[in-house]
Amino acid sequence: MHRVSDGDAVPDAPIVDLGMPVPGGAFDEHNPPDAALVGDCVHCGFCLPTCPTYVLWGEEMDSPRGRIYLMKEGLEGEPMSDSMVQHWDRCLGCMACVTACPSGVQYDKLIESTRAQVERRHDRTAADKALRGLIFSLFPHPKRLRLLRGPLRGYQRSGLDRLVRRTGLLERMAPQLAAMEGLAPRLGKAEKLPDRALPAGQRRMVVGMLTGCVQREFFPGVNAATVRVLQHEGCEVVIPRSQGCCGALSVHNGREVEAQKYARALVDSFADAGVERIVVNAAGCGSTMKEYADLLADDPAYADRAREFAEKVRDVSEILVELGPVATRHPLEVTVAYHDACHLGHAQGVRSQPRDLLRGIPGLELREIAEAELCCGSAGIYNILNPEPARELGDRKAANIVATGAELLVTANPGCLMQVTTAIQRSGHPMGMAHTIEVLDASLRGLPATTLTGRAVTAPNPVPSNQHTTQG
Ligand code: SF4
Ligand code: SF4
Repeated sequence: MHRVSDGDAVPDAPIVDLGMPVPGGAFDEHNPPDAALVGDCVHCGFCLPTCPTYVLWGEEMDSPRGRIYLMKEGLEGEPMSDSMVQHWDRCLGCMACVTACPSGVQYDKLIESTRAQVERRHDRTAADKALRGLIFSLFPHPKRLRLLRGPLRGYQRSGLDRLVRRTGLLERMAPQLAAMEGLAPRLGKAEKLPDRALPAGQRRMVVGMLTGCVQREFFPGVNAATVRVLQHEGCEVVIPRSQGCCGALSVHNGREVEAQKYARALVDSFADAGVERIVVNAAGCGSTMKEYADLLADDPAYADRAREFAEKVRDVSEILVELGPVATRHPLEVTVAYHDACHLGHAQGVRSQPRDLLRGIPGLELREIAEAELCCGSAGIYNILNPEPARELGDRKAANIVATGAELLVTANPGCLMQVTTAIQRSGHPMGMAHTIEVLDASLRGLPATTLTGRAVTAPNPVPSNQHTTQG
């Protein structure tokens, strides 16, 4: 037996009976955390050192093992309490525990079911509801994000952003809004994508492309680079105009019905595209789209279509490695630290492909980051809902990145780019930031490394603004 933070003991062997949940407990019968999956946890603790919240606080109930134990209590009849919800809310959903677990515990499925139950059955505070309402009325809506671009660019160009941060007023009055404001990337020009882009040479594959929400409006250069690279490598790229949000943020925050609505709409958008693969350049979106078969399993009209859709989904690095290189790589003399986005590394198991692409560029030196398995604190909207632990994790990640001595930080998720850029800036160590595909794009186009490193974060500590500018 080992002790937990509130003095209870966690038994060494699983004792969950099947046939849960017990009526009156934390969960109702609509998709509760699976008792059999809960029972798979043998409480060995191998996952603990990789769990960011356990690393920060050393609290059993803020570890994967503790959170699973709370699910077991809920299944056995313990009502859903504020304390239970707090421990589940503090989970970043980074899935480092899934990678670390030798017993194959499917914590990803457990926390997803738990979060959906929490959103349906737990009464959040008015302030929490309002913040979540604001986030979900904005982020999954590219058209609304587009309307924000103009005012946000004006705000950034006028220098008002720096003034707001220097006064620290917003941080004192509304730390979560201050976190949202501080993470906003410095916006460049919008880039218009074609509906269909033809391959540069012989056609090797027809692929569809997800443009995303935040990626589309705040990092349009990443989408433009993705199209160019795919063309160079012989892909015809189809970009359905009707596509919207993939539902990733909704899935990760227990908004099950909303996520299913987005998933159905995206399946419809690609239905007549005639593509062999669907390419994604945002880790969180890709991991969710690969799970559409589970998300829509109970919908007779969409279950089969969702499975077929999910089988086609690939991260852009996967598809490029699968195809193999044909385009000429021009040298890029640059040292790169590659950061594994959790939803690419832990959730999708895609670690070697981005590294292979980077190593294939002549002159590029790849350096590994210490504590690579630890989340940077971005985790979708976690850094807005929980700014303090997110900031601690961001600073820890920034210190490990700076210690590599690399000139350029590369990752494959817009959330990580925003979070790490802000943390690197706080550290006061200038460094360029780019998506993996932007690095490959620069090499294929024969651009100098300074087009990437020249976008370095240079503002002095402690101004926490984001200097990542988009290409083009
Ligand atoms: S490593 Fe797996 S089995 Fe061990 S405590 Fe963590 S979740 Fe449970
Ligand atoms: S998903 Fe991440 S934060 Fe959540 S329990 Fe697992 S390792 Fe910890």
